[in-house]
Amino acid sequence: MIKGTQGYFDWNATTPLRDVARDAWLSASSNHWQNASSLYHDAGMTAQRLDAARERLADLLGCEAERIVFTSGATEANNMLHAALARRTANANRRALVSSIEHPSVREPARKAWGANRLSELPVDGDGVLDISGFERQLAAGDVGIVSVISASNESGVLQPWAKTASLCKQHGVPFHTDATQWIGKLPSEGLAACDYVTGSGHKFGGPKGTGFLIMSDPDEKLTLLHGGPQENGQRAGTENYPGIEAMVCALEEATEEAPAAAGIQAQLRDQFEETMRGIFPGLKVISAGADRLWNTSLMAMPAHSNLKWLTRLSRRGFSISTGSACSSGREGSSVIVSALGASPDELRRVVRVSAGWDTTAEAWAALAAAFAETYAELASGAMP
Ligand code: PMP
Repeated sequence: MIKGTQGYFDWNATTPLRDVARDAWLSASSNHWQNASSLYHDAGMTAQRLDAARERLADLLGCEAERIVFTSGATEANNMLHAALARRTANANRRALVSSIEHPSVREPARKAWGANRLSELPVDGDGVLDISGFERQLAAGDVGIVSVISASNESGVLQPWAKTASLCKQHGVPFHTDATQWIGKLPSEGLAACDYVTGSGHKFGGPKGTGFLIMSDPDEKLTLLHGGPQENGQRAGTENYPGIEAMVCALEEATEEAPAAAGIQAQLRDQFEETMRGIFPGLKVISAGADRLWNTSLMAMPAHSNLKWLTRLSRRGFSISTGSACSSGREGSSVIVSALGASPDELRRVVRVSAGWDTTAEAWAALAAAFAETYAELASGAMP
């Protein structure tokens, strides 16, 4: 039987808390629980530590500390950004360009904030990579108020050309946002701070849930979504979550240190897994296999049976996989993002996502492939385990 988190293959949905993050959270909650906005000495200590955590995060991300606003996660940060920029450019008749593979926490707030006629989708090619020439044509129209392109797809793991996109935007004087939720903690952060806006989430790299951040282009611009207090330089009202923030930063420090080694090992294990799966299932399609992808992610259209059947039967065998991202799976387990890649409705029903962690072992990957094979035999025989 597979042990601990080794049967867990849904790390793009969330990750287990790292020990350093748990220790940091407990210590901060025990020793520095005072409200960072209060005026006595002990509260001042919390405020100082919060400032230090902001500086440490800024170092990790390569930006000035003043550009960081702490939020409850990437969803809040994405909402904040689109609401503010749509409001600001409402009279200038600007529109937003948003890639067709954005996470729903970008797509839906963008639709709500800009409205259907001020929002255009940027298509991806057959491998799920942003179509740069189509993007340049849209940008040249001169009426763009913001561009959002995800750094790495939460579903397929495909890495997007965000650095190129950011520099094209700069040339046209258009603000550029990347949702780097799946990138940060897995790949180096170099260059990210050159984007005007970057959003991220603590629980994707071993930090606590309910933590995240927005990097803004200018510390003095007001993007406030939550009103009712002066916290975060007036950008976000609400008592600062110092223990959560401390834990998130500790998690990212550790993730950043470990990521290069994990990336090398895990990419090999993932590729080996896909080869084994192709051997077991000749009709298997690995989606976006030809593109650069996150080292932990494999999105596959199974040759037969619905993804929900695979998911429930693998779950009984101790393996957790996904039918797509937790946030974009429809009732039938189909995904808006995979359909943007041109998958047929029938293929969509058969798509499963496997996403590993920084310490997933070769044995766990092999056991998962074996469990797929056993599940297939079971489904073919019509037997209920
Ligand atoms: N963006 C991406 C790409 C994600 O994968 C997620 C989490 N599924 C989010 C945003 C939302 O993050 P959070 O849970 O911190 O709100």
